[in-house]
Amino acid sequence: MSQSLSLPRPSAQAASQRPVSGDPIADPPSGSESAVRAYSDRSQFRSARTAEFTESVIREMSRLAMKHNAVNLAQGFPDFPAPAFLKQAAADAIAAEFNQYPITWGVPAFRDAIARKYKAVYDLDIDPAREITVVCGSTEGMIASLLATVNEGDEVIVFEPYYENYHPDLQLCGASRKLVTLTPPDWTFDREELRRAFSSKTKAIILNTPNNPTGRLFTRVEIEFIANLCIEHDALCITDEIYEHIVYDGNIHVPVMTIPGMRERAVLVNSMSKTYSVTGWRVGWVLAAPDLTDSIRKVHDFLTVGAATPLQHAGITALAADAAFYNHLSIEYGARRQLLTDGLEAAGFECFRPRGAYYIMTNIEKFGFANDVEFVRHLIEHAGVAAVPGSSFFSRPELGKNYVRFCFCKKPETLAAASERLQKAF
Ligand code: PLP
Repeated sequence: MSQSLSLPRPSAQAASQRPVSGDPIADPPSGSESAVRAYSDRSQFRSARTAEFTESVIREMSRLAMKHNAVNLAQGFPDFPAPAFLKQAAADAIAAEFNQYPITWGVPAFRDAIARKYKAVYDLDIDPAREITVVCGSTEGMIASLLATVNEGDEVIVFEPYYENYHPDLQLCGASRKLVTLTPPDWTFDREELRRAFSSKTKAIILNTPNNPTGRLFTRVEIEFIANLCIEHDALCITDEIYEHIVYDGNIHVPVMTIPGMRERAVLVNSMSKTYSVTGWRVGWVLAAPDLTDSIRKVHDFLTVGAATPLQHAGITALAADAAFYNHLSIEYGARRQLLTDGLEAAGFECFRPRGAYYIMTNIEKFGFANDVEFVRHLIEHAGVAAVPGSSFFSRPELGKNYVRFCFCKKPETLAAASERLQKAF
C-alpha cells in the first residue's frame, strides 16, 4: 500500500493534557483512596530481585541541581549540540522510511559498518552475521551479556570504584560480586588481590577501560595480566569500552579482545553515546564469539526487540568517521579536562588527573565535611554546582566518603561558569 495512513495530528490542547510528573493524573493527591492503596503495604508486588535496589544517586543529585539551578557537572551527558552530520543522517533515515522494526540483532548495513570500524582501528576481524548484536546502548549490552552468560551463584569480579550500573546488573543475574580495589592516586590494582579474587566459581570479570569514575586507562601489561587470569580460570572478560576514543596525552586504548587467547573470551560492549555525543539515541553493540552471541541475541530480543531503526542507519554514517574525527574528540576533551582541573584546583580540590573518559575524581577531605553526600548537597545549594558523591561508586559508603566526581563533557562556558562559582564558594 503506497498511501500512508492518515492520522490526525494531536491538538495543542490534547498534548498539554498528557500526564507528566507533577500532574494530578500521574501523581494522585496524597490522602485519596488510590494514593492510600498505592503507598500502603504492597510489598507482594515487589520482586525479591529488585528489593535491594537503591535509587541512582546521580539522578537524585541531578534533580537537586535542577531545583537549585546549579551548573550540572554530575551526569555524564554533553550540553552541546550533537554533530550536525549525524542529526542530518538521522533525519534522512526517517524520511527514507527506515521506521519499522529492524532485524532484532541489528540493521545489516550497520553491523557491516561496526565490523569495518573494528578492522580499521584494531585490526579485529568480526563477523557481522554471527558476532555482533546491536542493542539499546551499552546499558542494555552489559545486562544482556551478563544475563546470557552468568548463572545464579556464579562469581563475577568487578574493580572498585565501579560504574554504578554493574551492581544492580549482577543482582538481576543473581551473581555474587567479588571486588578488587583500584587505589589512588593512579587507581592501580594489586596483582595478588586480583589473582585471589579468581576461583573455580568465577564466570567473568567486568573491565571498564577507560574507566568511569576514575579516569584510569588500563595499560597493555595490566590487560595482558587480566587476560592470562581469565584464560587460566576459564573465565570471560566483559569489557565496557564506551570511552575508547576519549583518551589523553597520546595514550591509546587496548581492547581485551585483541590480546592473544582472548578473541573467544572477550565480550566487548560499546555504544554511540559518548563517542558521537548522542547519549539519548540508545544505540550500542556487543561483539562476542558466535556461541556467546547466540545467547546474547536471544536475551536482547526478549528484552527490547531492537534498537531504533533510523538511528542505526545514522550510525552507519557515524562509524565511517575518519581518524581526524576521533583525534578532534580527544583534543577537545583534553582542553576541557584542563579547564575544569584548573578551576577545581584553584578552588582547593585535590584532583586525580584522568587519562581517559570525561570525569575528574577529586579528594574533598580537607574541606572538613562529614562525608561526600553532605559535601555535594552543600555544593549544589550554596555554590550552585552539582557533582556526584564518591560513595555512589563504592560497595560501602565509607569507602567513597572522601571523593566527589565532576564531569567535563560540557561547553567551555559551562565549565568556566562552574569554576567561577566554585572559587567563590570556598
Ligand atoms: N558504561 C559506562 C562506564 C558509562 O559511564 C555509561 C554512561 O555514563 C554507560 C555505560 C551508559 O552507556 P549507554 O549510554 O551506551 O547506555
